[in-house]
Amino acid sequence: MKHRFQLVLLLAFLVIIYTSSLSSWSKGAAEDLSTRNKPWSMDSHSPQQQASSESTLQLELEELLQKDDEKSIDNDGFTLPPEPVSPVKTDVISDTAAPCTTYDCVNDNPSPLTPTLPLPGAARKANAVIVILCRNSELDDMRRSLREFEDRFNRRYHYPYVFLNDDPFDDDFMASIRAMTESVVEFGQVPNEMWSVPEWVDEQRMHQCLLDYRIRGVLYGGSLSYRHMCRFNSGWFYRHPLIEKYDYYWRVEPGVHFFCDLLYDPFLYMQDNGKEYGFTITLKELPETIPTLWATTMEFAKANRINTTLLRFFSDEYDDYNLCHYWSNFEIASLNLWRDPKYQAYFDYLDQTGNFFYERWGDAIVHSLAAGMFLRKDQVHFFDDIGYQHDNFAHCTEDGNLGTCLCPLDIENFDDNQGSCLS
Ligand code: GDP
Ligand code: MN
Repeated sequence: MKHRFQLVLLLAFLVIIYTSSLSSWSKGAAEDLSTRNKPWSMDSHSPQQQASSESTLQLELEELLQKDDEKSIDNDGFTLPPEPVSPVKTDVISDTAAPCTTYDCVNDNPSPLTPTLPLPGAARKANAVIVILCRNSELDDMRRSLREFEDRFNRRYHYPYVFLNDDPFDDDFMASIRAMTESVVEFGQVPNEMWSVPEWVDEQRMHQCLLDYRIRGVLYGGSLSYRHMCRFNSGWFYRHPLIEKYDYYWRVEPGVHFFCDLLYDPFLYMQDNGKEYGFTITLKELPETIPTLWATTMEFAKANRINTTLLRFFSDEYDDYNLCHYWSNFEIASLNLWRDPKYQAYFDYLDQTGNFFYERWGDAIVHSLAAGMFLRKDQVHFFDDIGYQHDNFAHCTEDGNLGTCLCPLDIENFDDNQGSCLS
């Protein structure tokens, strides 16, 4: 009897200990969950530390959300209470889970295991897109440039990409590009009307001109596809259906390099400061490619009584063209600049001459002279802090041992070169 009483006492004691440990564990778990879902303090963290703790927290949040969906039943049969989702974190999540609208839209389910590094303020974004015109055959160069572009800038910002091509992109190309970014990527074909010889151009004369350019050895002089490319970039890309919804763009090409971490959003910089056109390199054009472009532009400016100050930057002491232009393989600019009826009228005026084909007018000159006619100087921005290389020309400003640039050792800063319009 005495033994049985002792056994009952022991059992009661064990039950009390078990219940109290279970209730303190569940309280701890709930507190843990609620502190995780509170906005965290940014004060004592460097941007990098803060970014990595944000991404860890994002992963944890995603795991927890997933657990909620599964009714959060743990091994002991304990059900976690549903928790409100922090608005700060949902911003980060919705950033990578942007809605997909076309059949080519990708990454609608980005891996939660890939950490992202949003900077403070990255939740505020411009309505902007990275535009890349290229060919399937340029995949290797494209992947190299994209890797650099992502690492230096876009993996923190997740701006969408639009890839354009006059041919359809093949599956290998699209899969390889998609593997490099968490951003939404759309692939589009350039419609025929944006990449064809207009009916008013005399094709026989055009072919003679191409042959003549080829014989004279002018760079790309004999290429018809190069002329389509220049005309497309001058007067059409901003009207492409995949680009229409955006306000700003950054043009990137296969084979270019980026040397500096960009720790702010250049699109927001443009938007907040009333900038319309941004460049990194200016240089002089080959005169053979544009025998009549300056005169045609002056005609247009006079006929339309264009009152401008910036165009003076492009004239020499004889009021001829000094051949300077912003190199358009890099552009961060407003799409509405080109959609403006004034610019459209300028492009149409140039196009009706047929000289995109008889001569070899480049989009860089057309954009530059348009900026000269339609913009004030303070609307054009020199992105000195974006280290960039295209072909053998680089712009890169050393910013010291505590800076973010690693400028190339084998190529000089083109700004100091005689051929640069900044020197
Ligand atoms: P460069 O920069 O003046 O030497 O000319 P590029 O050959 O680099 O061409 C400028 C851009 O247009 C690059 O992004 C090319 O990939 C692209 N491009 C040029 N020609 C074609 C073409 O015929 N088809 C397509 N899809 N892209 C082109
Ligand atoms: Mn190029």
